[in-house]
Amino acid sequence: MGIAEWADVGFPETVAEIGEAGRGWLSEKRDRGEAVARDGHGVRRAKTFIGQRPATVSAVRASGRLQLRYATALTSEEYVRQKSWQQASLEQCPLHRRGGCGFARHGTYPRVKPAGTLIARWYCPTGHTSFSLLPDCLASRLGGSLDDVEDVVATVEEKVAAGSSIEAAAEEIRPDIELASALRWVRRRLGPVRVVLLALVTLMPGRLGSEPRVGAVREALGSRQVLMGLREIGSGHLAFLAPPVGFGPRHQRRRRRRRRTQHETGPDPP
Ligand SMILES: [Zn+2]
Repeated sequence: MGIAEWADVGFPETVAEIGEAGRGWLSEKRDRGEAVARDGHGVRRAKTFIGQRPATVSAVRASGRLQLRYATALTSEEYVRQKSWQQASLEQCPLHRRGGCGFARHGTYPRVKPAGTLIARWYCPTGHTSFSLLPDCLASRLGGSLDDVEDVVATVEEKVAAGSSIEAAAEEIRPDIELASALRWVRRRLGPVRVVLLALVTLMPGRLGSEPRVGAVREALGSRQVLMGLREIGSGHLAFLAPPVGFGPRHQRRRRRRRRTQHETGPDPP
């Protein structure tokens, strides 16, 4: 895929672009397994990427709903067929290891795809936080399975490498909807997956190859289920790693316009 096309969707183009600086922030202070940094005001921020607007870890926490990993090799179909959420277990409150907070199982919630999917949930009344255990086969903050997401991205990569545009690839993959919608649908998968791959390829030099593309990582790992595999490989980083693999803040497109601040000098407005 050409740099210009990726630039169009607003992501860093190369591993080199995040490079040393990226390793720097990733190795900064870690607290509870999250990569954090401090901005000028002492606010802890999870920097999902160089060049992106950082999202606060506390903003994710403040949502009162945290996703955690349910390690399983089941495919999404097997997960539904075996009602595997019944086996999911979270023995202690992630916020209060010593207990006494009223932490308890809190039923399930459904996901649309695959049909019949339920996700096991717990609740800590002291911390006003619910925890859901997302199985490795399912994408976070995106419908469907990680395998489905991976197939879409791999297909687009192949088509673009063969000379097609992202628009043409989107039209072929989703002929059932309008082009603009198909393009949005494809980009909702393409961009976030690239962000995750770029972060992990940078974090683990050599292990996942050197290119943040599904095709290249598939080759490096000798597997056609790399996103699911990355839940395991990147398991120590899921709290800040972006969806659909991680449970951290969503990737935010960098803003091209400079934001005016009170420190900015210039003529008074009319
Ligand atoms: Zn608790």
